[in-house]
Amino acid sequence: MKVYLDAVSTTSLDAEVGKTYKKLLDEYYCNSDALYDDGVAIYAMQEKSRSIIADTFGVKKDEIIFTSGASEANSLAIKGLCFRHPERKHLITSIYEHSSVYNSFRQLENEFGYEVTYIDPDKDGHISADMVKDALRSDTLLVSIMQVNNEIGAINDVESIAEVVKKHSGTYFHTDITQGVGKVDVDLKNVDMASFSAHKIHGLKGSGVLIKKEFVNLSPIISGGQQEYGIRGGTSNALSNIVLAKTLRIAMENKDKYHDDLVQLHDQLIDGLKDIARINYDKGLMTLVNISTPVQSEVMLNALNDKGIMISSKSTCGSRKNELNRTLNALGIDENYALRISFDYTNTREEIDYFLKTLKEILNKYA
Ligand code: PMP
Repeated sequence: MKVYLDAVSTTSLDAEVGKTYKKLLDEYYCNSDALYDDGVAIYAMQEKSRSIIADTFGVKKDEIIFTSGASEANSLAIKGLCFRHPERKHLITSIYEHSSVYNSFRQLENEFGYEVTYIDPDKDGHISADMVKDALRSDTLLVSIMQVNNEIGAINDVESIAEVVKKHSGTYFHTDITQGVGKVDVDLKNVDMASFSAHKIHGLKGSGVLIKKEFVNLSPIISGGQQEYGIRGGTSNALSNIVLAKTLRIAMENKDKYHDDLVQLHDQLIDGLKDIARINYDKGLMTLVNISTPVQSEVMLNALNDKGIMISSKSTCGSRKNELNRTLNALGIDENYALRISFDYTNTREEIDYFLKTLKEILNKYA
C-alpha cells in the first residue's frame, strides 16, 4: 500500500486540470505574445484566467501577476518593493516564514543594508496585530506575515495585521497565503500583496501568482519584456497560467464539498495518535498535524517509507539542509523527533488506519 501524507509539501494533479492542460499542450505551442491568430487565442485565454483568479480574490484583473510559483511571488513582492523604494530601510517579518520569504529578508539584510525585525510567534504559534504594531517604525517599508504556517499549520489573523499596517503611512503589507488557499478564507481588502502557488491545490508545479494592488510599485526581479505588466519578464507560461483559473475554481468548490470528510479524517487521526504520540500542534489547519514520537524523525521517516508511507518531518524546501527548523525551534519543539502529517480529500480512512497501524508497529520496534 502506498500512502501519501505530505499534502503540505505538494499535491497530486487534479484529473480535470491535467486533462485540460494536456489538450492545450497538444493544440497550442506558440508564444502568447505573438500577433497571429493562435498567439492571440492563447493570450485571450490567459487574460480570461487572470480575470477569474482576480474575481475569486475580489481584486482587479491587472492586480494578478503570474509567476513560477510562490517562491518567486514572495521574492518579487519583497525584493521588488525594496528595490523600488530604497528610501525606507526597515522591514518586519516573522521568524517562521517559508524560506522564500525568510531568505529574501536575510539577503536584504546581509547584502543590501536593510534592518529586519523578525517577530517570534506566541506560545500558541501566532503572530498578532499587536506584535506587528509594536515593531512598526517610521521608516518601516514592508511587513510580511504568512497566513498559514507550513510546518505546524498555525493560522494568523492577517486581516487584522493588514488593518494595523494600513493605518501606518508608507508601510506595505504582504502575506504568503500559499497554505491557506482553498482551505482558509482570506479578505484581501487591506492586504497590499499576497502570494500563492498552484501545486498546493492540485495544480501544476511551476505556476503561481503574486496578487499586487494597483498602487503598489515594484521593480522587476526577472527583467525582460512586456509580459506581466513589465514586472516579470520571460515568455509567458501561458498554458499553466490558463489552467490555474480552473485549478482555483476546483479547489474552492472542493473546500466545501469535502469539509466533512476532512473533519472525519482529522478526528480519526487525532484519536489514533493520542495514545502513541505527543501532539505538538493541532490548533490550526485541520489537514496538518505536527507530532513527536520517542523515535528520531530520520529513523521514523525511513521506517515509514519502507512501508510505503510518504511523510515529512519538516518543510520539504529545507529537507536536505541541516539548518535549524525556525518554526519548531520558536515553539520549543525538538525537531529531531517531530513529524508533520498532512492530508487532503484524496486520502481515505483506510489510509489513515494503515498509517496509524504502521506507526504503532514502528514504535513497538524502535521505541
Ligand atoms: N510558501 C509556503 C508557505 C509554502 O509552503 C511553499 C511551498 N513549500 C512556498 C511558499 C513555495 O512555493 P513554490 O513551491 O510554489 O515556490
